[in-house]
This record gives sequence, structure tokens and C-alpha cells, in this order.
Amino acid sequence: MGFDVLDASAFYAGIPFASSQKHHTTPQVFDEIRHIKAGYGGIEALLDVGRLIVMEPPRDMVLRVQQTVKKAGETGKLSDADISVIALCAEHSGSLVSDDYAVSNIAKIMGLRVVPVMSAGTRRLKQWIRYCPSCKRKLQSEARCSVCGGEARRYPKFVG
Ligand SMILES: [Zn+2]
Repeated sequence: MGFDVLDASAFYAGIPFASSQKHHTTPQVFDEIRHIKAGYGGIEALLDVGRLIVMEPPRDMVLRVQQTVKKAGETGKLSDADISVIALCAEHSGSLVSDDYAVSNIAKIMGLRVVPVMSAGTRRLKQWIRYCPSCKRKLQSEARCSVCGGEARRYPKFVG
């Protein structure tokens, strides 16, 4: 298996638990998913057994991703965490597991392989959970958070 990199949407989908493969992510994404308790208390256990590896991407690669984001006109749509996982993936010529449209788009522009969350896992989709990435509130169908104006994101919830 290759070098698999997970963004936040992959964590919310439970991908680290859906296979016994080794996964990589960045400290920024790890920070983000630690604050949203999506019912996965076992993430620290994955760290312990070496199935989840947290790595910092090199600074020059982060700058390259930021330039690509700017050129693509996607400034403001990607968080520092999003940019960090794309950079880590690019540095190691890996595969990016993501269901985030903006993240996938930039990764594809940079010639990276993107694996949609739905095909990386094996479980059946139950519903999509929408949330604000800035203040972590759960949202209904609104496009933006009514408290801080953050653009809604979603993650899939699975049966079983
Ligand atoms: Zn908000």
C-alpha cells in the first residue's frame, strides 16, 4: 500500500477504523479532529499502535500549495489544516483520502491521487452531518454558520 494521507473529512467518516492500513495526517488536522468528538475515542490508540502517523509537511511544500490555492481562486475556502494535508501528500507522492470538494480540487490540480471517502470505507452511508469548521457548531441545511459565518462542511455518518 502507498502513503495514505487523511484530511478531517476522512476522520469524520471513520476511515482510520475502516481498514488496518497505516494512515498519515498532520498536527493541524489532528488538532481539528480532537476537538470534534464524533464518537471515535480510539484515535489515540491508533497512534499508540502506529496505525496513525502524525507528520509536519515541509514549509516549502506548504508554500507551493498556498500558491496553487491562490492561482485556482480558492483563497479562503481552505483552512491551514486543509493546506497542510495536501502538502504532506505532495511531499510523499501519496494518496489523499478526502470528501472535501475544495481540498480534492487543489490536490487534483497538483497531480495528486484523491480517494473519495465513500470508496475508501466499506460501510453503508446513513446520513450527512453538517457542521461549521470554525466554531464547530452542528448545522442543518444552511450554507453558512449563523454565528460566525463559516462555510458549512459535512461528513458522512455510517450504519453499524
Ligand atoms: Zn461557526
